[in-house]
Amino acid sequence: MNDYFVLNRFYEREEIRQKCGLGFWGGIRFNSAQNLLVLFSNAHDDRPTSDYHGNIYKDYYDSAAGLFHYTGEGQKRDQTVSHGNKRLRDAKVDDTRVLFFRQYIPKGKLEYLGLVSVEYQTKEIQKDADGKNRNVVVFWLKLISGPLINDEEAIYREIDSDIETDPRSLSRISKAELDEEITKVSKQIAKQGPKIGKSVLKAKVRYQRLAKIVTLLKARFDDKCQVCSADHFKTKTGVYSEVHHLIPWSVSWDDTQENLVVICANCHRKFHRATDPERRKMFEQLTSNFPNVKFYAPSFLIGT
Ligand SMILES: [Zn+2]
Ligand SMILES: [Zn+2]
Repeated sequence: MNDYFVLNRFYEREEIRQKCGLGFWGGIRFNSAQNLLVLFSNAHDDRPTSDYHGNIYKDYYDSAAGLFHYTGEGQKRDQTVSHGNKRLRDAKVDDTRVLFFRQYIPKGKLEYLGLVSVEYQTKEIQKDADGKNRNVVVFWLKLISGPLINDEEAIYREIDSDIETDPRSLSRISKAELDEEITKVSKQIAKQGPKIGKSVLKAKVRYQRLAKIVTLLKARFDDKCQVCSADHFKTKTGVYSEVHHLIPWSVSWDDTQENLVVICANCHRKFHRATDPERRKMFEQLTSNFPNVKFYAPSFLIGT
């Protein structure tokens, strides 16, 4: 089941629901045939709108403990250890796999943070959906699949994920023609200049402009990773690759060719979480593979 999801990539809730064969409701959903539990940690938002019911739970990652604070299910009155909460409590004993997805922006996609286990369970007082104090069950989750990458970077990761596009439409164009087109589009983007903005809404607008160059780059580098040269693997619909901003998009606001690389999922994770010396090695590999491209120098080259 976790083969369907790549660590630190973002998925639509409906996509997760379908792939895992889940019901429509709840933060904790169970697939009994697969003995699989899926946890959704939604962005906190206590101001519901007509098309969004908000989220009363204030969940967070406790970096000192290295554990994720996850509030159990139950919108009103005291929560009890029943239904989903019971399944989660008993997951270890029942040998249930628990997949964890986290959302950062209300209505946004959810990041796959891998498999988790419940380290222990506590009680605390939180407000319920009616604003009344009540007892909730808190599960302290340990991430099994890998350490949590810091929250601030989640927005970059979401953007990197969101610019996945389907390069198949360009498959008949030669590499030379693609190179020409990439240079042209990249120049246009550079000429328009970075659009500085703060809100996520502005980011959404910008994604759309990115799509064109990302599609071109993915078609151009559809065979292997620009860093480690591993072959991109084939999927049912094409080739799987990821695009990464060398200088984080939210810092540079720059989508030109010099700031974007088409890489494998492994290298992408390394670019986001490896140590600086490790990342410097990757960058050296990249520049030696493509001596003619003047890639932007990320901050880890300078060292901190
Ligand atoms: Zn790679
Ligand atoms: Zn990235």
